[in-house]
Amino acid sequence: MAIQEPLKTILAETRSLVERAGGARRSLTLSPEVAEALSALDGPRSQTPTKMETGTPPISSPDSAPSLEALESLVCACTRCGLAATRNRTVFGVGSPSADLVFVGEAPGEDEDRQGVPFVGRAGQLLTDIIVKGMGMRREDVYICNVLKCRPPLNRDPNPEEVHCCEPFLLRQLDLMHPKVICALGRHAAQTLLRTGESTGRLRGRWHNYHDIPFRVTYHPAYLLRQPSEKRKTWEDVKAIMKVLNGEVVPEI
Ligand code: SF4
Repeated sequence: MAIQEPLKTILAETRSLVERAGGARRSLTLSPEVAEALSALDGPRSQTPTKMETGTPPISSPDSAPSLEALESLVCACTRCGLAATRNRTVFGVGSPSADLVFVGEAPGEDEDRQGVPFVGRAGQLLTDIIVKGMGMRREDVYICNVLKCRPPLNRDPNPEEVHCCEPFLLRQLDLMHPKVICALGRHAAQTLLRTGESTGRLRGRWHNYHDIPFRVTYHPAYLLRQPSEKRKTWEDVKAIMKVLNGEVVPEI
């Protein structure tokens, strides 16, 4: 039948839309006419279907997660955006749940996607050096995560829909932790969270407000590996953050 393939395409795309929209519903209620047409595609049935099962389990809102563990379980099962189809592992976050300082990067890379841990590899080692040598803290004393919990293919920039789908997880993470300071690592994380197109150079060196949490911007460790001369500015950012963490300064946000 000539109309069969277009109908199948519509059916598949509708199913995908329902799955990506999330929410508690697992099925669509069909009109009798549509149900009959879809039934005809699959051949004769003893009973005409009136529901189209999407196969998507109920997805609770991130806002309702009572703990980081519960939130991580939601992330592990998340299919809210297309990155669920290409990820190897979700990358939720690592560190102390009671950390005063949270570092937020943009998205997992190849190593992170394989290991399920944020900021591993050379850039991760440099971040560890910044924490240990620059701040006099241990990596496990802070918390490290990304805006996106899944890797964009080929490390491309996240698209707005992916950020829209995933940012509620970050917001709930921060809400559960109540850090004293957030430090955005690099242009993409800073621009995404602050909803601005300003460069890292213009955003760093001053305090911002992210959902009433003091927010500082510094360079991404991967950028510092390429431009070691910029490390000096990161040390300045680190010193400003330490003054707040030590209670020497109250940032105006
Ligand atoms: S990137 Fe975020 S919203 Fe998209 S599938 Fe992964 S966890 Fe879900």
